[in-house]
Amino acid sequence: MVDCLIVGSGIAGISAALTLQANGRSFEIFGSSSLSTKIEKAEMIHNYPGLADVSGKQFVARLKEQLSAAEIAVREETVGGVYAMKDKFIVQAGQNSYEGKTVVLAAGVENVRPIKGEEEFLGRGVSYCATCDGFLYKGKTLAIVCTSARFEHEIEFLAGLAEKAYVFPLYKGAKIEGKNVELLKRLPSEIVGEKRVRAIVVGEEEKEVDGVFLLKESVSPAALVGGLEVSGGHVVVDRHCKTNLKGLFAAGDCTGRPYQYAKAAGEGNVAAFSVLEFLAGR
Ligand SMILES: Cc1cc2nc3c(=O)[nH]c(=O)nc-3n(C[C@H](O)[C@H](O)[C@H](O)COP(=O)(O)OP(=O)(O)OC[C@H]3O[C@@H](n4cnc5c(N)ncnc54)[C@H](O)[C@@H]3O)c2cc1C
Repeated sequence: MVDCLIVGSGIAGISAALTLQANGRSFEIFGSSSLSTKIEKAEMIHNYPGLADVSGKQFVARLKEQLSAAEIAVREETVGGVYAMKDKFIVQAGQNSYEGKTVVLAAGVENVRPIKGEEEFLGRGVSYCATCDGFLYKGKTLAIVCTSARFEHEIEFLAGLAEKAYVFPLYKGAKIEGKNVELLKRLPSEIVGEKRVRAIVVGEEEKEVDGVFLLKESVSPAALVGGLEVSGGHVVVDRHCKTNLKGLFAAGDCTGRPYQYAKAAGEGNVAAFSVLEFLAGR
């Protein structure tokens, strides 16, 4: 079991990781090899102390150098759930699960609004994790909503299992092919069903499906962590980045506005010091 499981490889997660590393603590950090699309996509950054006028790509390159020098490797795995146990946490990522004494949630915020019914049917036909739940839908009909080309391999994986896949790419230039794949260019408005998902609503039409996969950069914190207190879609934290769950801290955009690199870095640092304090008190 590691000291801390960090969910998110943006500025907040990286800041927490660097501080824990400097203090000799063990951790895993989950995210993507590009670190964060929100850094990568920034045209020019003018307001980050010490880095005047860098592009997002240059910023990512600097961060990668820093992580490499500190011997920190990001696990390119999507966390599907964080479970608070009596005296530890379990993080599920794909087929793997990881145990940690604490968690820092630094998963950012998703710009795409949740679809009506998404949270209601989560675990009852709605899933955020292709590798965790895909096998449950072998030979079935799926709707796959995807916000980034980064997840196209997951779409291919799901379409390979399903008999029929309705794919909703919410980005330009989607390259998904397959005899059983139907590409739909509009956002579904609602997920409907009774005990489980029955259909997805597209315009006036209901498409009968057995499951809905939502492949996106960040999911709502409440959906990721059961029992977590949220307000307006953000994690409720105090000045020490503590949440209502003992041992679970949150940092960065997921705790609320302003959405800024400097705030994310600061909170990642605060969350890491709260982790150190928590571990010292155990
Ligand atoms: C185009 C653009 C330009 C911007 N320019 C500026 C600027 O000039 N100055 C400024 O201060 N701010 C700017 N921002 C805002 C800034 O990008 C954010 O405030 C900052 O990235 C927040 O950092 P974060 O670590 O909280 O979240 P993010 O950077 O969003 O990182 C979250 C990370 O968590 C990962 N993640 C999410 N869910 C999971 C999961 N379930 N499992 C594993 N990993 C997960 C994501 O893949 C990502 O790596 C800009 C944003 C955009 C989009």
